[in-house]
Amino acid sequence: MADIDEAINNAGNNDFDIPPEVLDEIQHNIEEIIANFPVPEDNKLDVIKKINFMYSHTRHLSLTDSLTGLYNRRHLDSTLECEFLRAKRYNNNLSLAVIDIDFFKKVNDTYGHLCGDYILKETAYIIYDTFRKTDIVFRYGGEEFVVLLTETSPENAKIPLERLRCNIQNAKFRFKDKNLNITVSIGAASVNEDTESAGQLLDNADKALYEAKNSGRNKLIIF
Ligand code: GH3
Ligand code: MG
Ligand code: MG
Repeated sequence: MADIDEAINNAGNNDFDIPPEVLDEIQHNIEEIIANFPVPEDNKLDVIKKINFMYSHTRHLSLTDSLTGLYNRRHLDSTLECEFLRAKRYNNNLSLAVIDIDFFKKVNDTYGHLCGDYILKETAYIIYDTFRKTDIVFRYGGEEFVVLLTETSPENAKIPLERLRCNIQNAKFRFKDKNLNITVSIGAASVNEDTESAGQLLDNADKALYEAKNSGRNKLIIF
């Protein structure tokens, strides 16, 4: 219970911050309540359904980012580890891209935070819409996103990533009668025999992103 109180107290502004082990504890508590609570037989099913719904809803909130609706960083950590191990074990292709909005601070400074939030939501939607449903999109941090391209070689990752770069560049962003042009820089890396950990894959993509930023932005660089 102390863990649950702590999680509630530590909940961040943008995230419903409940770690997976606390969720497990909540589920355990729910099971105990269902087992011991004297719910009248005739509406027992209703009560169980409601509790289950509340639990799934809590779980969903803990894995997603409230502004964009995308999966959050916590979910990336667990998913990436799992997909990395799968790719290594079965020798599958796995590519990862880090996408960062160019000069985003300028958008906030010039047009305000609400406009920044609008750009984040629209960009998130374009990213989500550009990739296959088997690819997984996360909001990694402020104006950074990560896409995990499962079963995708570096050559095949290039195609949707370049398409994404163009889609953002050509998108018509409009906030309070102002037209805005947005671009993103993208760094990508793929698992190969030298990749030793999920962290290294992310690091390699980050290095490529750094190069994309340093070589003029609005670019895709593959590690
Ligand atoms: P670069 O091209 O090098 O990436 O420059 P940048 O301005 O995009 O990068 P920088 O890291 O300097 O600024 C990121 C900005 O993102 C700063 C921060 O205020 C903004 N930001 C982070 N999270 C949010 C958010 O949830 N909403 C809004 N509106 N802005 C955010
Ligand atoms: Mg950034
Ligand atoms: Mg940026």
